[in-house]
Amino acid sequence: MLGFPAPYSEELLYSTIARAGVHDGDTSPKQLLDKVFNNRGVIATVDLPSHVGKLASQYSDSLGLDARTLISRHTLWPIYAPFLPQERNNKLREWMSGSSQGAAHLASGIAASRVEAKAKLFVCVECLNEQKSKYGECFWNRTWQIPLLKVCPAHGLLNITSIELDGEHRHSHIPVEAAEILEPVKGEAVDRAFSNQAAQLLKVQNEGVSFSQWTSFYKHFASKLGYLHGRRIDHTRIHETVIQFWGKRWLSGAGVLPSGTETSWLRGLFRKHRKSFSFAEHIVVISALSNGAISVCDAIEKASRMVNCSKKCSHAKLQESTTEIQLGQDQIHWKQLLELSPPKAARQQKPALYTRLYRNHYDWLIYINSVNHADNKTVNKRVDWAQRDRQIARDLRRANESLSDDLNAPHLSRTFLIHQLDHRATVEKNLHRLPRCSTLLALYSESTAEYQARRLTRAHLSMKELGQEVKRWSLLREAGLSDERMTDIVAELLKEILSEQT
Ligand SMILES: [Zn+2]
Repeated sequence: MLGFPAPYSEELLYSTIARAGVHDGDTSPKQLLDKVFNNRGVIATVDLPSHVGKLASQYSDSLGLDARTLISRHTLWPIYAPFLPQERNNKLREWMSGSSQGAAHLASGIAASRVEAKAKLFVCVECLNEQKSKYGECFWNRTWQIPLLKVCPAHGLLNITSIELDGEHRHSHIPVEAAEILEPVKGEAVDRAFSNQAAQLLKVQNEGVSFSQWTSFYKHFASKLGYLHGRRIDHTRIHETVIQFWGKRWLSGAGVLPSGTETSWLRGLFRKHRKSFSFAEHIVVISALSNGAISVCDAIEKASRMVNCSKKCSHAKLQESTTEIQLGQDQIHWKQLLELSPPKAARQQKPALYTRLYRNHYDWLIYINSVNHADNKTVNKRVDWAQRDRQIARDLRRANESLSDDLNAPHLSRTFLIHQLDHRATVEKNLHRLPRCSTLLALYSESTAEYQARRLTRAHLSMKELGQEVKRWSLLREAGLSDERMTDIVAELLKEILSEQT
């Protein structure tokens, strides 16, 4: 198409196509699609349009408007990209450029991480006035169409327009001049905070952050801001803080009110990430927990500097040894300190060193501290398992001695024997670390046959003591045995006992 307009700063591609139609005179929407894309079936998409490659081919190379640039500067891709792994961003971009056939498959993957798009197009009336005086025409700014965004960062509340995105307008790119501007949206005080954060995302140049990086980020984030209960994440307090900062009504209106259950998205965010979370969920948590002190853009930057241990953490060791070669003086000093003290104590001893490392080697510091965390060390250091094994084995031997002579003792199963010990929980959980105990348990515990034989002997002795006549049926009743449950060995024993009677 001849003389296709270049997009204005922050203009949506949707809008540029609409202006092309206006510039071209009396073109119908279908004719416009034909001229631009050679395809009348293209759907007019605001947030993540496809066929961007075709648009890019309208421009001469000197303008530098290739598909990649158009996608990052003139669509809503930047509000999703930092929250998706890089591979998915690459695929998404391929699809948006129009070079991928897997559109449906991909679109479904994206939909999961995307909050509901606005049903109508929005405008800021003051921005429109500024555009008119500056350019002589108006365009759809991408900031206005960010889902859930109600406030123009430069001005005030946005207005809804008459342009609905689905239905009859599916194939039409409608210029802003053709829209009827309706009432302003209703917003709350927190809407400004949310809108400012969301609008900032458009400035971020990020190609994707992996699940493991986001997982580490939130672990450190919660720990740094004190949202831990002992060593665990304090989910209850996080939940309360989020509700208090945004208010239930706002969260519910935005569709991100976390439930109080184990499976709520809010809890999921602080666990190992297996799926992506939406930009709105990230903003909600980062703003609330830091009380507005940390922006979502800072968070993205920190997360993307986290050590990426995608192939389990066996690679972490490797990473440590490879970085070893280039360690600076401060880093070497810190590593030496960590050999003597846990990170917290090391930090108290050398606060200036810690600050320098925090500033210059943030990801290395977080990584090396997590490897040398006090919790990791005490688990291995505090318990001397060999010593504990010997001590528990002694207790076990003593317990067995008093039980084995007692014909009335209950079934001496493995579990029963363990329950006679003072540290039964330790033994149950750590039997693999206690070889002596393990062997003794195998030796002392009774099989079903052994237990039945003991019951039979006990019953026989007591009946004889009382001078009772020993009949087969009365002996079985006294021993609590039945023919169905009796093992073969015990049946033999019973025969022997009865034959001795006669
Ligand atoms: Zn504005």
